[in-house]
Amino acid sequence: MSTARCFRSMVARPALRSYIKPQILPLSIQTRHASSKHPKGFESPSSSDLDELRERVQEFTRREITEEVASHTDKSNAFPNDMWQKLGDAGFLGITADEDVGGLAMGYQAHCVVMEEISRASGSIGLSYAAHSQLCVNQLQLNGSPEQKQKFLPGLIAGTSIGALAMSESGAGSDVVSMRTTAKAVDGGYVLNGTKMWITNGPDADVIVVYTKTEPDKASKGITAFLVQKDFEGFSCARKLDKMGMRGSNTGELVFDGVFVPKENVLGEINRGVKVLMEGLDLERLVLSAGPLGIMQAAMDVTLPFTHQRKQFGIPIAQNQLVQGKLADMYTKLQAARSYTYDTARKVDEIGQIRTQDCAGAILYAAERATECTLDCIQLLGGMGYVEEMPASRLLRDAKLYEIGAGTSEIRRMVIGRAFNKEYSSHAS
Ligand SMILES: Cc1cc2nc3c(=O)[nH]c(=O)nc-3n(C[C@H](O)[C@H](O)[C@H](O)COP(=O)(O)OP(=O)(O)OC[C@H]3O[C@@H](n4cnc5c(N)ncnc54)[C@H](O)[C@@H]3O)c2cc1C
Repeated sequence: MSTARCFRSMVARPALRSYIKPQILPLSIQTRHASSKHPKGFESPSSSDLDELRERVQEFTRREITEEVASHTDKSNAFPNDMWQKLGDAGFLGITADEDVGGLAMGYQAHCVVMEEISRASGSIGLSYAAHSQLCVNQLQLNGSPEQKQKFLPGLIAGTSIGALAMSESGAGSDVVSMRTTAKAVDGGYVLNGTKMWITNGPDADVIVVYTKTEPDKASKGITAFLVQKDFEGFSCARKLDKMGMRGSNTGELVFDGVFVPKENVLGEINRGVKVLMEGLDLERLVLSAGPLGIMQAAMDVTLPFTHQRKQFGIPIAQNQLVQGKLADMYTKLQAARSYTYDTARKVDEIGQIRTQDCAGAILYAAERATECTLDCIQLLGGMGYVEEMPASRLLRDAKLYEIGAGTSEIRRMVIGRAFNKEYSSHAS
């Protein structure tokens, strides 16, 4: 039995599931559950389901994403393309998607578990994984028509095609709504013109969720999302970017030069793309917050044995209080960040509650703590922390991305502050 089918039969066993009985929930929560971002019939996994899933992912990473693979991916700056098929065979590419298109319908806690464990093995494989399984697959799951889902999701989930999402442009990053890529209505579809920058999986992707302006004068009310296929005429990847970290997670600049996209490939409603974009960003930030968790765990995995084996002044360096203090801080930051991410994901799964400030907060907190923990990892390894024989420098270079991608730390703080403003202005009125 394939691992995917094995998971499916595992999660179908009622004894393994925890059931939230709608009748015992307050009415406000029941209403929110009705608009939940899960496939039909979704039931939140129990903690033992999630533990079992974590063990399966760890078995996978021990076998397929060894330290050698992670290091080679970083040094060669090339994604190991056979990984897509392996991730697909393992059932990890459609964690939040419908079972009838090959997904596991296990929800966002499960997606965070897979993301955390893959990122623990390799930050860059983790980032590409999330761009595919969350940014592309989950956006299609949430916004695709039945025909679009049937057409694209089986291949994406099996790992035979690669997905990406393109919203950022060289002139529109934090202020993404100021994007300039346009889509002009023509007979039978739209013609896209413009460029997209820093697109994860862009150089390899077969299917890309692309945000454009269909009504450039209407600002956020004129945005539409499209599904662009690699073989559409006029589409190309101009270059692969050379990055300081997340090397091997291929990042590209994409060009749309008069690309005709049939109307069947409009994702969601015309001019309502900002809703697709913003709602997608909440869940994207939540799932991506598990990336820095994995990197922090990887830093612990390196630092703990090293500091207990390395002796100076006749004793393991971990017996010095200054070293213990750093280890304790690393551990506490990881555990606090982990609790925040999984608590936010549990509320999405169990009561359908998506709080923008917590999705932004979880990644804000985890990302900054990951940079701190990986710097501490380098410090505690001393000279060995500074040489490329050890993974410490890669962990730091990978961690830093999470303070920039999916909205920077400054923008996340702004998003949280704005949520308070909204709450207080509604109290005032
Ligand atoms: C490796 C990598 C992968 C990525 N993958 C994708 C992807 O798959 N798809 C995609 O669409 N995009 C992707 N991005 C793009 C990413 O989301 C943007 O880089 C990010 O949103 C920041 O935009 P910017 O680079 O234009 O920075 P800018 O917006 O120019 O910001 C520069 C600095 O100014 C600060 N700043 C800007 N505005 C404000 C403000 N109002 N208040 C306070 N500070 C402010 C920022 O916080 C930052 O410190 C990726 C980026 C990287 C590096």
